Amino acid sequence: MKKFALAGNPNSGKTTLFNVLTGSAAHVGNWSGVTVDRKEGVYKKLSEPVTVVDLPGIYSLSPYTPEEVVSRNFILDEKPDCIINIVDATNLERNLYLTTQLIETDVPVAVALNMTDVTEKRGDRIDAAYLESKLGLPVVEISALKGKGIHELMKRALAASKEKRQARTVCGSGVGELIENIRGSLEAKGVSSPLFHAVKIAENDEIDVGAYKDEAKTVGQFKKEFSDDVFGDDFEALIADSRYKYISGELSPALKRGKREKFTPSDKADKVLTHKIFGIPVFLAILFAVFHLTFSEDLFYISAMAKGLPSLDELGLDTGNPGVRLLACLYDGAVFSPGVMLTNLLSLVLDGISGAAGGWLSSSPLWLSGFIVDGVLGGLFAVMGFLPQILTLFLFFSVLEDTGYMARVAFILDRIFRRFGLSGRAFMPMIMGFGCSLPAMINTRTLSDERERTATVRVIPFFSCGAKLPILTAVAGGIVSVFGVGNADVITYGMYLMGICTAIATVLIMRNTTMKGKVPPFIMELPAYHVPRFGSLMVHLWDKTKHFVKKAFTVILASTIIIWFLSSFSWNWQFLPEEIEYGGETVLANLRMNESILGSIGMLIQPLFTPIGFGSQLASAGWVFAVAALTGLVAKENVIATFGALAAFVAGSYIATEDGVAETVAMISATGITIPGLIAFIAFNMTTVPCFAACATAKAELPEGKFRWTLLFWLCTSYTVSCMIYLIGSWWWTSFIFAAVAAAAIVLTVLWNKRIISFGKKRVGEQ
Ligand code: GDP
Ligand code: MG
Repeated sequence: MKKFALAGNPNSGKTTLFNVLTGSAAHVGNWSGVTVDRKEGVYKKLSEPVTVVDLPGIYSLSPYTPEEVVSRNFILDEKPDCIINIVDATNLERNLYLTTQLIETDVPVAVALNMTDVTEKRGDRIDAAYLESKLGLPVVEISALKGKGIHELMKRALAASKEKRQARTVCGSGVGELIENIRGSLEAKGVSSPLFHAVKIAENDEIDVGAYKDEAKTVGQFKKEFSDDVFGDDFEALIADSRYKYISGELSPALKRGKREKFTPSDKADKVLTHKIFGIPVFLAILFAVFHLTFSEDLFYISAMAKGLPSLDELGLDTGNPGVRLLACLYDGAVFSPGVMLTNLLSLVLDGISGAAGGWLSSSPLWLSGFIVDGVLGGLFAVMGFLPQILTLFLFFSVLEDTGYMARVAFILDRIFRRFGLSGRAFMPMIMGFGCSLPAMINTRTLSDERERTATVRVIPFFSCGAKLPILTAVAGGIVSVFGVGNADVITYGMYLMGICTAIATVLIMRNTTMKGKVPPFIMELPAYHVPRFGSLMVHLWDKTKHFVKKAFTVILASTIIIWFLSSFSWNWQFLPEEIEYGGETVLANLRMNESILGSIGMLIQPLFTPIGFGSQLASAGWVFAVAALTGLVAKENVIATFGALAAFVAGSYIATEDGVAETVAMISATGITIPGLIAFIAFNMTTVPCFAACATAKAELPEGKFRWTLLFWLCTSYTVSCMIYLIGSWWWTSFIFAAVAAAAIVLTVLWNKRIISFGKKRVGEQ
């Protein structure tokens, strides 16, 4: 089957065209460079079916970014039968720069002039026939979005693929002769696309200079003979210059601009939205609205303002009635946000299923119903419970992304992020981290600098994900009700802030020590705003949530089963849970968990947590915190689920609440843990090694060999942070010790960076 490759600048519409051609659902977005993966599909409407490959967006074929290397290698090594070069007609000159490089290869090229619906609206006219004669390539006007000219394009591409095309370059005299010289020598060696390589060697291209040493020498000699006075030394700049000259001199006349208004509506919107001063408050307001719509239990602040609107119960409604229960999902003393409504509705359904399963299994052996209801369904439903809010959050983000606003956010934040050694694009993955680390880590692919990317992946878990929220609310609620201090909301927000501060601090440290590097300059197209399309939104949404769903049905399901098993059986295979009476019902409770396998593991590792406040200093049942933290390594959802299981043991009676507060209260009273210990417990869970699924993602996304160090980084960070919280919270004067250590570390880093000191190894650049 013939193979066609789509090549073009970021945001020129490759993915949109790809989707139209292949009918497949690929990611369509405004982020440049989003198509890092290779996508293939088949176009079936020609006389023969052809494979279409969507290449990553590139501005040139130099090997400076991973996208460029991927595209270049594909074109040179896999030799597609035709390159379909997508050119954004609204940005003709910049886009044709790549075209002048593509024609240097031996591969047939067809040019697709995309976005002609926009140029038409603007009243611009592009003379395709003129371009065609100048470039010597088929040029077809299309609109990928409107599906116009697509078939014509493919027919012309197929015809082009059947003809041999003469490679040509636009480089002028002088250097042109040198290039011709090298081309001859490469051709004699049987190198394919000799002209392309010849130009690259003259440009002093890293890859080709390494591959063709003799020819590179020729360039060196040429420079010695003629340099300085005639051409200067920088052939790369010289060649780039001749490309631009060719474009503006020979190709640009094809474009006849119509009269136009000075500012499009999009430009006007940007005056406010990307404003130096107003941009950030507007963004914060939008962000707040998104989180409010997703998480708020008081959407219109009615109950906060009117102090105590009646709940359904107070209205005298029967809360056992199915209709009333449905209503309670939407309103109960306050109107809930869409995210909370969906969560409530889902939990209504899941409760029903659990109940039905319990009733259905009532005559089966105890261990079997325990296994299915608590082991399998309990764990699975706990995770699925987060799905509505994650979906809502991601839906809002997808809307912001598809309208083109997210690209602006990256732009306005770039100035701030730069101070911490990151680019504005790092923002998007971080904010996604509040939902789930998995898609967030995958989203770091938009960062082109490898070290920046590594640093970003490492701090993503500190942006507390949806699964960590229950830990926060349960423990904060427990603190308020046992010690009678503070406000659960304030503690929760404080812990979110703690995570963000940890991220900032560790990024600063990494970018000044192990992950040093310059932030690449911010080059991203700011696409015109447009109304998002439903299909594209759904594709986006699925792209982001599929990892979470997959995780629920694999890692978490498996881990809850293992944990259930370890906590339900003793070393000599005795099934520990027993049936007890609770609120008029018979329930299964595990009151002898200390005899379980999990219990003995907890007791074994308990001393490890002593320096951070929840280890051996606790009363006899103190190992329960160690167990909860341990199960959290598999999935953070497990922490509170484990609390639930353990509460039965520490309290000596069965407890089951929605929010986990009563369970936490039981654990606090039984173990005598202090407030600093509890806060340290939250901090540890928030900043330590994330769940299995996130670890697997990090391993896949990080460069070779960096994952081990990342694990160590997470362990060290969480231990340090929670140790500080515990020690300073318990004995305030220990803060002086931490301050002294931090000051010493800063001084050492500065001295080391200024090369005033070194630790044995000679540093690069030293004599
Ligand atoms: P890629 O980065 O090259 O893959 O570009 P995308 O396919 O993601 O498209 C970038 C943006 O341009 C998206 O918002 C598309 O909806 C939009 N777009 C693509 N083709 C056209 C077109 O022909 N006309 C218009 N008006 N918009 C287009
Ligand atoms: Mg794309």
